[in-house]
Amino acid sequence: MVDLKGQYLKIKDEIDAAMAEVIESSAFINGPQVTRFAAHLAGYLDIPHLIPCANGTDALQIALMALDLKPGDEVIVPAFTYVAPAEVIGLLGLVPVPVDVDWRNFNMLPQALEQAYSSKTRAVIPVHLFGQSAPMDPILEWAQKHGVFVVEDAAQALGATHKEQRAGCMGHIGCTSFFPSKNLGCYGDGGALMTKDFKLAERIKMIANHGQRKKYIHELLGCNSRLDSLQAAVLDVKLKYLDAYAAARYAAAQRYTAALREIEGVVCPVEESYSSHVYHQYTLRVLHGRRDDLKRHLAASGIPAMIYYPMPLNQQQAFASIIRLTGTLEASEQLSKEVLSLPIHTELKLEEQQLICEQIKRFFQNN
Ligand SMILES: *Cc1c(COP(=O)(O)O)cnc(C)c1O
Repeated sequence: MVDLKGQYLKIKDEIDAAMAEVIESSAFINGPQVTRFAAHLAGYLDIPHLIPCANGTDALQIALMALDLKPGDEVIVPAFTYVAPAEVIGLLGLVPVPVDVDWRNFNMLPQALEQAYSSKTRAVIPVHLFGQSAPMDPILEWAQKHGVFVVEDAAQALGATHKEQRAGCMGHIGCTSFFPSKNLGCYGDGGALMTKDFKLAERIKMIANHGQRKKYIHELLGCNSRLDSLQAAVLDVKLKYLDAYAAARYAAAQRYTAALREIEGVVCPVEESYSSHVYHQYTLRVLHGRRDDLKRHLAASGIPAMIYYPMPLNQQQAFASIIRLTGTLEASEQLSKEVLSLPIHTELKLEEQQLICEQIKRFFQNN
C-alpha cells in the first residue's frame, strides 16, 4: 500500500545526516531537533502553538484531558472512522456518541449533530478522513451555538486546506499523527497537538509532561508523551517535501478516477469544493455487495487493497456498553461493507497503476 523504502532512498543523504547529528549529540530526548521541527510545522500550518507528543492517539487523549471534562460527559464522534478518538473518550470515562457520516465524502454529517446533542455534550471530534477536511463551517457553527469544544483529528489530512485554513487548525485543538504511513510520517511513532489558544497550549504542554510546569511539581494529572529527537530530525527533513508528496498523491488519484469513473458499480472519491484533498487514502465504494470479491480478485494478481474500516463504532464489542446511540448510522454501516482503498503513495508508478486499473476493469467485465 505504501513504499517507505523507495521514498527514503530519494532523500537518504539528508535523512542519514539528520539522524547522525542526533546520535552524535546523544540528545535523544528533547533535543534541539524537536523544538526546531515544532517551529517549522507551526509555521507551515500557520498556527501559534504546536506541541509534539508520542503518537496520534496520545494527542487525542491529551486534548480531551486539557479540556478538563468530567466522567459521564459526552463526546460526539463519527461512527465510521479509525478507533482512536472513541477509544480515548472511553478510557477517560467519557461517553462516545457516534453520529453518521456523509455518503459523498465519508466525513461527519453536520446535520446529525443536533440529534446527538444532550445537556452532557462537551466536545465533538470531526475526523478529516482519507485526506479531506470534514465540513468545518457547519460543525464549528453548531459547536459554537451549544458551547461545545471542537477537537479535530487531522491524522489523515495534515497539509489539507479548508478554504484558507489548514486541517487541524480550525477547532479548539487539532491532533495529528506521524505514524510512518501517514502523509507526514516518521520512522517510528510520533504525534502533535495544535491550538491557537495560549492557555490550552500551556495545559497541553504540562499534561504531556507529567502535569508539571516545574520539574517535580505536579499541578495536573498528566502522562509522559514525547516526540523523540530522532523522529523530529526525520520529520524536519520530510516536512520540506510534504506539499510535493501531496501533489504526487493527488496526480495518482486523478489517474485512478479517470480510469475508473465509468465503471458501473464503482464510486470514485468525491472532492468537495471547501477542502483540498491530500489523498491519504484513495477509497472506492464498491456497490452491489461485490467489494470482497473485487479485493480477492486483486489479491490474486498480487495487488494489495485495504478495507478502511470494516466495522462502524456502534458494532464494535469494546464500545457496546459505553456508547450512547441517538440516530441512524445507516451510511456508516453500509460504507463499512463498500469501501476499498487502493495503493496510493508518492512512489506509485504509472505502470503499476495501469495494472491495478486493468485488473479492476477485468473484474467488472467478467462478472
Ligand atoms: C493514525 C490515526 C490516529 C492515531 O495515530 P497513532 O499515531 O497511530 O496513534 C488517529 N486518528 C486517525 C484518524 C488516524 O488515522
